[in-house]
Amino acid sequence: NRWPVELKSVTINWESDSGESGQTTIPLTQMVNQLWFHLPLVLPDKIQRPAQISILPTLNFILRGKAKRVTVDNYFGLTKKPLQTFLANESLPTQPGWICGDVHLHTHLTSDQVEFGAPVEMTRHGATVMGLDFVATTDHSYDLDDYPTNYLKNDPALEKWHESRVQMRKLNQNQPEGCQLIPSEEITIRNHGGHNVHLLHYNDPKFFPGSGDGAERWLNTESEHDLASVLSERSTSTISVAAHPQYRVPFLHKLLIDRDEWSLEDLLGDGLNGAQVLSGTPESADFSRSRAVWIAALLKGKKLAIYGGSDAHGNFNVFRQVKMPMINLFQMDDQILGQARTIIASNSTQMMDMMDAMAKRRTAATTAPVGDITLTLPTGEVVEIGDEAICNSGDNITLNISGKSTTEFGPLIKIELYQGVFESQREEVIWESGSNKFELQESVRTEVTSAGYFRLEIKTPGNNRWPGIYLSTPIWVNLKP
Ligand SMILES: [Zn+2]
Repeated sequence: NRWPVELKSVTINWESDSGESGQTTIPLTQMVNQLWFHLPLVLPDKIQRPAQISILPTLNFILRGKAKRVTVDNYFGLTKKPLQTFLANESLPTQPGWICGDVHLHTHLTSDQVEFGAPVEMTRHGATVMGLDFVATTDHSYDLDDYPTNYLKNDPALEKWHESRVQMRKLNQNQPEGCQLIPSEEITIRNHGGHNVHLLHYNDPKFFPGSGDGAERWLNTESEHDLASVLSERSTSTISVAAHPQYRVPFLHKLLIDRDEWSLEDLLGDGLNGAQVLSGTPESADFSRSRAVWIAALLKGKKLAIYGGSDAHGNFNVFRQVKMPMINLFQMDDQILGQARTIIASNSTQMMDMMDAMAKRRTAATTAPVGDITLTLPTGEVVEIGDEAICNSGDNITLNISGKSTTEFGPLIKIELYQGVFESQREEVIWESGSNKFELQESVRTEVTSAGYFRLEIKTPGNNRWPGIYLSTPIWVNLKP
């Protein structure tokens, strides 16, 4: 942001957890004259895999005639810890017939006094390298309607919105083998209490204004839409998901921009497709609270698919955010691109196929392992995640469970099959298993006597940065009258 800058070289020091280390200097002769300059650098491919690598990059440059150097970043007050990456020798855990991506992600289209992201093409590049099949660019409604060069003013022509949709379509068309971008929006809507909550809205060619918590209109925090009005005005082949339902809102955000959480009552709204229960690491207490409110909604008979996303704001390695505007920043090891993912049962990354699978609730959320569950009726009919099985009371059914992990994320230490019963409004584990295996297949037989659902959870130790968890959307069970 201090151009013109003359780049001279980048020196990269790296060290792997097996003790290997090295230093590479990449010479540069480049002038930077614009915002959002970015440059992919490739480390020599001689490092033994798998390995956890610490990377310490130093940029040498000339600014106003003076030689300067910056290690990691030039943000005042942050410790210059090395960047972390895992060099895998196998792909992310996958299941045949399922694809995987990050459904809550900000790019540089999110740009205002306190928030930021990385350019769309770099985000896509990072996601492709990581092995993600798709990412949804859920940039804020109150940023997408700004002028491309001035985030303090709204643009009635919506040039930034229109250009970004064209750019994403082109990137998808030009590299169909790479990670597919789902053009999306994080819309600020009013909840039941009239406060602001966030709705992840995928693949709608229509823009929805939501300026309640954009801090662009001082003391006017009322958003244009509520859930019902978005759902009644949305286009076909779009999906709407409650963003991080019970992740705690900082006190200042509550006070100044009237931001709130999704209550159980909010989640029961008609037409909502799902809830992003997992947002970053499952170690967060806010994940447990979100999981609890999702289960409460399931027990009320609400068919909500589960979603997982990172809510990364350009965090490819480390999370950085404004703590107090104009005063300080902070950083943490959470909300990293692709850290929490959604897997969807689709054979292709064609937009229509992905939206169709989401509409059918064929989803699961994960930070590591993958799994699947199907239900076989006495007739032999097989019912999948997201569907409803119609049974006679007393039917013996079979639940076919599978799970899978990789050395990066560790063995399947706990597999739990949950049954939710509408009548008693209770959920319990009806079968569980633990192992040191990386793959599991089991059949569990049980008798159906009441309406409700079955769902699967799997835990692994995870990598050295966060634990592994998988949660499936349920298979619902209804009784013949
Ligand atoms: Zn967000």
